Amino acid sequence: MITYRSTRAPSGAITLETAIADGLARDGGLNVPNTLPHLDMDAVRAAAANGYAAVAEMVLAPFFKGTRLEAEAGRLIGETYSADVFRHADVAPLTSLGKHGTVLELFHGPTLAFKDFALQLLGRLFDALSGAQSGPLTILGATSGDTGSAAIEACRGRDNVRIVMLHPKGRVSEVQRRQMTTVVEDNVLNIAVEGSFDDCQALVKAAFGDLDFRDRMHLTAVHSINWARIMAQIVYYVWAVVQPAYVGKSPSFSVPTGNFGDIYAGYLARRMGAPIGELMIATNANDILVRTLETGAYRKAAAEPSLSPSMDIQVASNFERLLLDAYGGDAAAVAANLTALKEAGVFQLSADALAYVRSHFRASRASDADCIDVMTRVWADTGYCVDPHTATGLVAAQALENPAEVITLGTAHPAKFPGAVRQAIGEDPTLPPHMAGLFDRPERMTTLPADLGALKAALEAF
Ligand SMILES: *Cc1c(COP(=O)(O)O)cnc(C)c1O
Repeated sequence: MITYRSTRAPSGAITLETAIADGLARDGGLNVPNTLPHLDMDAVRAAAANGYAAVAEMVLAPFFKGTRLEAEAGRLIGETYSADVFRHADVAPLTSLGKHGTVLELFHGPTLAFKDFALQLLGRLFDALSGAQSGPLTILGATSGDTGSAAIEACRGRDNVRIVMLHPKGRVSEVQRRQMTTVVEDNVLNIAVEGSFDDCQALVKAAFGDLDFRDRMHLTAVHSINWARIMAQIVYYVWAVVQPAYVGKSPSFSVPTGNFGDIYAGYLARRMGAPIGELMIATNANDILVRTLETGAYRKAAAEPSLSPSMDIQVASNFERLLLDAYGGDAAAVAANLTALKEAGVFQLSADALAYVRSHFRASRASDADCIDVMTRVWADTGYCVDPHTATGLVAAQALENPAEVITLGTAHPAKFPGAVRQAIGEDPTLPPHMAGLFDRPERMTTLPADLGALKAALEAF
């Protein structure tokens, strides 16, 4: 059975069930697997003929083996990656854009962003696990836009789960906000925080850090610090590289990055044996990871609003998972760095750790103007409309060797970001049919200051 340890503990044998139910490790660290399975790529290639769900079952089976979820996992995976949930026969189709490379479209789920891939599965796993809980689980999360709606969509109306989602007031797009606030089920509470996404994330971490409160409320996390999300995201990298176009090749991936969850999954896929070339961290102006690779100093800065709001993040939480590998498993070194970050807003990677990170990742930043420019050019060259997050990936892909061969993750549907699309191509993207009516429905949310006391009171009342 694969077990997990916290990034801040020297060892551990945390089960998958606990990693899922707890979200964040109890010492404030993030759960990471003690061992990784090795992929049999020929078997995966054969499974791909039966579609995405078959690949997902094969890639994820070793993680479920020996857990309480083992018997149900296949069914839950099959339900998740089905035509009822994802509105494209291939679930994650690849679209070639010629010299601009290829887009792996991860936006055919219910909320039109890649977060549906992990959260639709996680919602089902929570429900399957909650039978053993003494009360309903309360999911507490912070969203820069897309996690919130995907998590709410995955949990709405489920009997044993309540969900409380914080978003930075006025800093998510109207479509993103409405996807969260127009949900009518009573197990959903939306909170607009007067602050940035980093403030929201800090509040969530603080609530989890209050262990009494956390236990009393049965708090759990859905954002990308939950291991199960990373696990689910490994699948689409594997799915992409077994497509016929990549036989005998090791394509590089360009990944629009905020919290470092999505690209970390690609790193794990490569470690599991998937033939993947380079992994490019694509950022917008919020470039903490670009600066870290350049200088070795991981230094917080104020988050800057951009046209790609889901990436307006200056503390990439999942980077902590990579740090553990970069320091050769030395949890004390990781913990010391995170303490320095908390106290001084910066830590300096050791020379060896920096060399490790540089050997596994490239990084590149795109300004809003760069993104609009690539959106305009792709539209002119191919008639394909790109969202502003995917655009950061297309910009970064050009910095890699042979950009036409690079797979850029298409992390959101352009209809979620009509303002940027209008700026780039002079017309509005069309909202897919199942989203019609979004602008007519009433909204429900509570506004709070960025204050832990206020948040705790709102949770108690809920
Ligand atoms: C969340 C998100 C990202 C960033 O993903 P991380 O896993 O946080 O790095 C990029 N694009 C879109 C559209 C997103 O919703």
